[in-house]
Amino acid sequence: MKLLEDKILNEGIVLGQDILKVDGFINHQIDVSFMEELGKDMAEYFQGQGITKVFTIESSGIAPAVFTAKYLNVPMVILKKQASKNLKTQVWQTEVVSYTKDLSYELTLAKEYISDTDHILIVDDFLANGEAATGAVRLIRKAHATIAGVGVLIEKSFQPGREKLESQGISVYAQAQIRDFENGKVRF
Ligand code: 5GP
Repeated sequence: MKLLEDKILNEGIVLGQDILKVDGFINHQIDVSFMEELGKDMAEYFQGQGITKVFTIESSGIAPAVFTAKYLNVPMVILKKQASKNLKTQVWQTEVVSYTKDLSYELTLAKEYISDTDHILIVDDFLANGEAATGAVRLIRKAHATIAGVGVLIEKSFQPGREKLESQGISVYAQAQIRDFENGKVRF
């Protein structure tokens, strides 16, 4: 998607060998109108597939997921990284080990927000090693719901996320695919 590629080229900052900082429009400050355009494009890509809910992982996936859900006209559900003390209801959980952030967490979803008739689209900001997305896939499958696909704003194609998902039969849509960072410059 050219709109996103241009924004990354103009405002993204490459950190080290493999991290793209996009705090100015995705991860810290959000360009809301721009995010809405991304959500609309995401919804158009997946529309007509009988999607009943959009799932995301807190917190950076929430903004794109909200707008995707708006244009698909379905609810959006946030998978929690920590079981809230207020979650007195029954939950589905799966452990996610994040090599990117060097931590692990229990991805948690209250059982009342998923059923075996749901067909779910997973939306996140980045696809890197695919740990977060495969965690979401495991959680959804535990609940015997089905998965329409994974949609991300930015895929780092030099990392194995897509391969991990596609090898499980999950289709992936990325609005920008980064081939590599050469001398601190993004190449699509
Ligand atoms: P995973 O390795 O599980 O695919 O990525 C997990 C999460 O790490 C993503 O949802 C995203 O929040 C974060 N992440 C991974 N790579 C990058 C990156 O290059 N830049 C930023 N800003 N976040 C990243």
